[in-house]
Amino acid sequence: MSTLEIHQIPTRSDNYVYLVKDRGTKRTGVVDPSDAAPVIAALDGLGWTLDTIICTHHHNDHTGGNLELKERYRAHVVGPRADRDRIPGIDEMVGDGDTWRLGGAEARVFDTPGHTRGHITYWFAETKALFCGDTLFALGCGRLFEGTPAQMWTSLSKYRAVPDDTLVYCAHEYTQSNARFALTVETTNADLADRVRRIDALRAAGQRTVPSLMGEERATNPFLRADQATVADAVGKPVADPVAVFAEVRLRKDSFR
Ligand code: ZN
Ligand code: FE
Repeated sequence: MSTLEIHQIPTRSDNYVYLVKDRGTKRTGVVDPSDAAPVIAALDGLGWTLDTIICTHHHNDHTGGNLELKERYRAHVVGPRADRDRIPGIDEMVGDGDTWRLGGAEARVFDTPGHTRGHITYWFAETKALFCGDTLFALGCGRLFEGTPAQMWTSLSKYRAVPDDTLVYCAHEYTQSNARFALTVETTNADLADRVRRIDALRAAGQRTVPSLMGEERATNPFLRADQATVADAVGKPVADPVAVFAEVRLRKDSFR
């Protein structure tokens, strides 16, 4: 096995697209290309070409560049089996429990439905990188457009296998607004308060807050903490029912302004 070199490209108003290159074979991929132009510019700047387009889910802000990039580079498109009809240009389908490789860099695939019904996550354990699309965000999680709270809680619970020192490469810079909401849920979480101070400082300096560490998410992200008494108490649901807690936290976030 080998590891990935990762290059982050900010696109649109708040999207992140990732170029990934296997250090062993030099095979190169792009994760969730919202648009072709910024990806082409980044590849040109690095002197890289493109072999593979790696998709987490069908939304246009993750697949808008698929067809143009596929044609320009003769690239191969991998994406969720459960959503094969909605991933532009898909060639290879993967799903829960599959092992997928970019050259020698190995990823474990999780089905993580909730935001969309076919959403998947790629975990490159040796690189310590999780490409989770719109399932998990720094201090947040994706909206439930096509899934239930129970599905999303199950999806997020799959990340328990992922170590604390893994970097979470989510697809949007939503962190600061997520942070304001998280503070309303866990008012006494010192790790959260400290993290929000650091996030505010980064944003004030015009810097990115993504990727984040999985360990930090576990300690501070209210959506990963629906099984914690502090979160259950805050939303008035029993700690024995994390799905109900999660559902209530998600509901409150949906109307939070
Ligand atoms: Zn999405
Ligand atoms: Fe998105």
